[in-house]
Amino acid sequence: MIFTGGIKVEPIKSNKEYELNRYNQYVIDDYYRIKGESCVFAIGDVAQILDGDVPIPPTAQSAEQSGSTVAKISPG
Ligand SMILES: Cc1cc2nc3c(=O)[nH]c(=O)nc-3n(C[C@H](O)[C@H](O)[C@H](O)COP(=O)(O)OP(=O)(O)OC[C@H]3O[C@@H](n4cnc5c(N)ncnc54)[C@H](O)[C@@H]3O)c2cc1C
Repeated sequence: MIFTGGIKVEPIKSNKEYELNRYNQYVIDDYYRIKGESCVFAIGDVAQILDGDVPIPPTAQSAEQSGSTVAKISPG
């Protein structure tokens, strides 16, 4: 069996152009807000989550952690 799995994100259609990294993940700040936005968050595979300067691999664990954090800190 030959299997290839890609981890490049399918860009989300939007009227606005946001900064993406080379995997099409949104560049976010320390609070998971998409760069330049005060109340638009990106979590999981679509977000470039960093540990310091090092990107965290897109896994279910990091998706759950980022989702749970944003659920606590987001205003609504
Ligand atoms: C083959 C494979 C094996 C993996 N194995 C592991 C593993 O063993 N352990 C691990 O931790 N991680 C593993 N991963 C990675 C893990 O699956 C992902 O990191 C995780 O699912 C990311 O969660 P997410 O919620 O960000 O995205 P997803 O789980 O991809 O969820 C995104 C959801 O959004 C929906 N969606 C997309 N576009 C739209 C739209 N326009 N409108 C509405 N809904 C939309 C999709 O249908 C999907 O349901 C694996 C991935 C692959 C591909």
